[in-house]
Amino acid sequence: MSDVMREKVVIIGSGPAGWTAAIYAARANLDPVVFEGAGSRTMIPGGQLMFTTDVENYPGFPTGVTGPEMMMAFKQQAERFGTRVFTEDVVKIDLSVYPRRIETNMGKTVEADAVIIATGANAKWLGVPGEEHLARTGGGVSACAVCDGALPFFREKTLAVVGGGDSAMEEAIYLTNFASKVLLIHRRDEFRASKIMADRALANPKIEVMWNTVVKEVVSAEVVGGDEIRALRVADTETGDEREVPVGGLFVAIGHKPNTDFLDGQIDLRENGYIEPPAGGRTATNVPGVFAAGDVTDDYYRQAITAAGTGCMAALEAERWLAHGGIEAPEQAEVVPG
Ligand code: NAP
Repeated sequence: MSDVMREKVVIIGSGPAGWTAAIYAARANLDPVVFEGAGSRTMIPGGQLMFTTDVENYPGFPTGVTGPEMMMAFKQQAERFGTRVFTEDVVKIDLSVYPRRIETNMGKTVEADAVIIATGANAKWLGVPGEEHLARTGGGVSACAVCDGALPFFREKTLAVVGGGDSAMEEAIYLTNFASKVLLIHRRDEFRASKIMADRALANPKIEVMWNTVVKEVVSAEVVGGDEIRALRVADTETGDEREVPVGGLFVAIGHKPNTDFLDGQIDLRENGYIEPPAGGRTATNVPGVFAAGDVTDDYYRQAITAAGTGCMAALEAERWLAHGGIEAPEQAEVVPG
């Protein structure tokens, strides 16, 4: 007996895009399988929301919800309709064959008619002491100003943003809505950001730039209920001098990395590694029967609500693709009008 699983739809990834795709695919009787990931230091099942404390901008939660609670609810909703979930990483995928062949880190082999890739992107972190602990526990370290900046925790404080690209400029400017002051910490003496964004940040009276500066450590203080950021230990890259700068929050804005390595060049990617979506706002990739949803294909919006939306779209497209031929007639199915 073969121990190869044969599936109609396999969903890779377990953030808002993956679970939403699963809910739609399961309710369409496609009996989907989700590989939610095995978990590592930088990526755990549930994706980036597992590092988010309060989600206040997802419609339907008037008093907010924590990222982990939200992902648990998404997962439960997918399972309620029969989604099967494996806590394993997909390490290899062969898109040159029909059905598509998927291998996991636990040695499972799965053959799938349609595949939805929702593996997300990881915010890059500095990797300095104190950072991960405070990011995980809501102690004042974040990689998303739009997600967390408006929380009461960060109001009327001196906040630090690290980075010199457009994201850092945007986050620093956004945070001036809430902070008393924003320290923009960059490791060089010129920004990578577009001139217009850099000029806007430099002209903002609430933003002070710390050039040639790197963060060595996030210093915390013990408070009731956990640890809270208190300061950054920074170093001048030219002199090597180190000092402590008191801050009430740290926003790391040094870029994102989409989780596309396992695709091994079999799907068209943009220069920055994100999956290239087709024209027309669809989720089909250039490979028939393979769809992409969420942050793995989105370097622009990066929101839970947009990821969930494209997860829904991917499942509807996969369903339609299967109904119009699927692997029996992939090219024909590919051009089904919307
Ligand atoms: P990015 O352009 O790659 O910039 C990353 C920044 O972080 C760089 O300044 C880099 O320094 C710094 N950095 C990287 N690793 C670091 C480390 N370990 N320690 C300290 N600093 C580090 O990333 P991004 O700003 O997220 O932008 C990504 C893309 O999205 C860009 O194409 C950008 O134009 C676009 N974007 C556009 C907008 C907009 O138009 N509104 C907004 C956001 C993003 P170096 O400069 O020294 O390498």
